[in-house]
Amino acid sequence: MRIGIIGTGVAGSLLAEILAGDRGLQVEAFDRLAEGEESEAGTGLNLGPNALKALRLHLPARHAAVRRASYPWRRWIIETATGQRLFDLDLQEVAEEPGIRLRWSELYRVLRAPVAGMTRHGLTLMEVEEDARGRLIPVFTTPSGALVRPAAYDLLVACDGRYSRLRALTAGVPQPRFFGVAMTRLLVRNAAWCPYDEYGQWFNGNHRLLSYRLPGGAAYIAGSVVLPSPEAEVAESARTAEFQRLLYTPAEGAPCPAVAWMIERLAEQVAEIHWSRLQEAPLLRSALDGRVLFLGDAAHAMVPTLGQGATQAVEDAVIAGQVLRRGGGPADVAAWRDTRVGFVRRFSLEASDTLFPGCDPVAGSIAKTAGAFRDRLRRLYTDVPGPEAFAGG
Ligand SMILES: Cc1cc2nc3c(=O)[nH]c(=O)nc-3n(C[C@H](O)[C@H](O)[C@H](O)COP(=O)(O)OP(=O)(O)OC[C@H]3O[C@@H](n4cnc5c(N)ncnc54)[C@H](O)[C@@H]3O)c2cc1C
Repeated sequence: MRIGIIGTGVAGSLLAEILAGDRGLQVEAFDRLAEGEESEAGTGLNLGPNALKALRLHLPARHAAVRRASYPWRRWIIETATGQRLFDLDLQEVAEEPGIRLRWSELYRVLRAPVAGMTRHGLTLMEVEEDARGRLIPVFTTPSGALVRPAAYDLLVACDGRYSRLRALTAGVPQPRFFGVAMTRLLVRNAAWCPYDEYGQWFNGNHRLLSYRLPGGAAYIAGSVVLPSPEAEVAESARTAEFQRLLYTPAEGAPCPAVAWMIERLAEQVAEIHWSRLQEAPLLRSALDGRVLFLGDAAHAMVPTLGQGATQAVEDAVIAGQVLRRGGGPADVAAWRDTRVGFVRRFSLEASDTLFPGCDPVAGSIAKTAGAFRDRLRRLYTDVPGPEAFAGG
């Protein structure tokens, strides 16, 4: 069976690695980036303990490599902008191992290295054609504009992210659902004086800062900003230092040291802030009668509230890898994954309640200390099958 993987981000790199060396499969991967190039890879992310469990069970060498490139994510606190503690969780109360926090560039470097030899770089997917036997031929363009048709594939796997060209070509462009919240991301390269370390969230009304330190003396600051309506775009007036200060400075009382430090960094580096809108796309696992399989964001872009986008791309890749190695196809991947993905998407959205006007962030954060939320976190962080679960299939 010949498999073409489109995109070597999180899902594509891991899928290529797990399928490499399987004698029954001929696997090639493609990415629009040149080898070593990083796109939008400057900021940080946290991967949940469930991503680490998936790697530990299925790709132990990759587990060790991402641990080396990262800091552990052991603790999660929530406070008001004045420093009133609302929530404090030791992740190992609900998980089997810590999560991680690291630079995007480091994650991509560690995941792409083992599959560089089987990846063709600098090829952007444009079209999909079909041969007389119904096999799919991806058509790529090179940076110089030449068209490349590498081969015909029995299965194409879409790992090309949130704006998947393969999904658009084979199943139409998914209609995103917007929630009236803008997200900001900023990398602070010199965080020597940062007054905190681990993952924290700080609320000023429904506007929220999220931050943690990263390897290399850096820190990541993410903001959530309420927009005037669900479909509203981010106004130009929001992209100023004054606006950032206003968002997170409490009306009563002084900001706590963590928030004061973040406000200064946001104001200083306002031109570097990356903006996006909170959104999700409908789940789709396959197209063209099972000749196309969707993984990661191409299948199920979700709200980033619980840090599960890349985390679920990891789970998708290792489980799809086990299924394909045993002769299964997209329907089997759907059977293993889609109920779980549905749960993760619902939970991520419900956990976003405190970002929306009308929800009291103090009461909403305190409610997350209750057993029901912890039980669901435990399910989120631990419910990952190991390779033995696939042995009979
Ligand atoms: C604000 C924000 C914060 C986030 N924070 C977190 C977090 O803390 N933790 C977390 O787990 N997730 C987080 N996410 C989600 C995360 O970014 C994605 O879910 C994750 O990157 C999806 O992985 P993927 O493998 O599907 O796609 P990607 O990692 O996006 O990889 C796609 C690959 O496809 C390639 N590609 C794209 N188009 C083409 C084409 N036409 N031809 C060839 N190649 C192509 C790209 O170059 C890239 O290599 C966040 C998202 C947002 C918006």
